[in-house]
Amino acid sequence: MSIPTLEQLHAMGAAQQPTYPDPDALRAAVEKLRTMPPLVFAGECDELTAKIAAVARGEAFILQGGDCAETLAGVTADNVRAKLRVLLQMAVVLTYAASVPVVKIGRLAGQYGKPRSSDTETRTMPDGGEVTLPAYRGDAVNGYDFTPESRVPDPQRLVDVYNASAATLNLVRAFVTGGYADLRQVHTWNNDFVKGSPLGSRYEALAAEIDRAMAFMQAIGVGDPDEFHRVDFHSSHEALILEYEHALTRVDSRTGQPYDVSGHFVWIGERTRQLDGAHVELLSRIKNPIGVKLGPSTSPDDALALAAKLNPANEPGRLTFITRFGAGKIRDGLPPVVEKVAAEGLAVAWICDPMHGNGFTAPSGYKTRNFDDVLDEVQGFFDVHRSLGTWPGGLHVELTGDNVTECLGGGERLSDADLATRYESVCDPRLNRVQSLELAFLVADMLREAPAATQA
Ligand code: PEP
Ligand code: MN
Repeated sequence: MSIPTLEQLHAMGAAQQPTYPDPDALRAAVEKLRTMPPLVFAGECDELTAKIAAVARGEAFILQGGDCAETLAGVTADNVRAKLRVLLQMAVVLTYAASVPVVKIGRLAGQYGKPRSSDTETRTMPDGGEVTLPAYRGDAVNGYDFTPESRVPDPQRLVDVYNASAATLNLVRAFVTGGYADLRQVHTWNNDFVKGSPLGSRYEALAAEIDRAMAFMQAIGVGDPDEFHRVDFHSSHEALILEYEHALTRVDSRTGQPYDVSGHFVWIGERTRQLDGAHVELLSRIKNPIGVKLGPSTSPDDALALAAKLNPANEPGRLTFITRFGAGKIRDGLPPVVEKVAAEGLAVAWICDPMHGNGFTAPSGYKTRNFDDVLDEVQGFFDVHRSLGTWPGGLHVELTGDNVTECLGGGERLSDADLATRYESVCDPRLNRVQSLELAFLVADMLREAPAATQA
């Protein structure tokens, strides 16, 4: 399948793209990216497609998580390890407590471009005057600092993001194959959890059960210890900045098919899923497993049209719908969409993003989300799929491995007054480590109650 040129894509009217002031610099950056090696291999993408096909059949569950926006400064060993650790802990809780295989996908090694509701940002300065500058569009595009220089889109950042993603993936690959992710380390991941915290103890109890199960398997001679040693972990990000995704789309020498080798899984955001738009066009041409965010304005026919364009052969595992209706809308808005897609016999994986429909600005001025709303949307997602006989296939969350204070509530009962303590996100608020693990235990309970899928 051929890939349109960048010029053709832009001519389609591409939403949410930066306006670069220096076209020569942009061309140079794209040419540089075209010479860089792939970050992931086509065969790895195919393996992930096969795993997501199991999710579409109701046999596995996806855990996709990471920052709303990665930052170049955030690419440190501690930060990457902490994110990986919380995802591994959540996956263990979901796998063991619910006895479902979990497909692990990080929102990392490429999650650097952000769609914005406004092209500009206005701030009131200490002297009372107002200053308006271009909006921050992620480290792939411009700087977070609120100065005119920093907010100019700089194409060199695309190359910087490639390098940062390569460093991140290199570390992740070392962690997941080099022993850190070994199931026999389940206790170690929990070492620095506050001693005696209810959640830490609940996790410890589960980890002890896993130890016993593994000792038993070893004693009776089943289970290959090597199987415990490594895990499969995949990268993902929103395919937003066309220059980056296009430059990293390559024809696979084995199959002759194009793959976006910037990540295993890429998705189309809520603001760029126009059927005749550039993002849908580009992603319709690549062979990776892909996702589309579906917000509350999605009609059943929108979903069918997207599936027809993005997965015309109805290949299981190719297409994931990531629904993000909001806690107040999911119970009414999701059923007609799921019903029609199921009635057409479309093989899609359904996963729930309980973050993006539940944001609001707190009285303190911080963008936040309530843990209870997040949970309520996930519960609504399970209820809807359970009542329709479809499979609630996964969870897509914004989280971090650190003890930030960005979302309200949870067992620590974070309040608006707490948000200022450690609010570090440069974009949307993330669940912290405790909130993330808490969510995993609650979702494991929901999963245990969900019947096996009724689809073939
Ligand atoms: C996001 O995932 O950070 C995002 C912007 O989501 P959505 O496209 O669903 O609004
Ligand atoms: Mn976000």
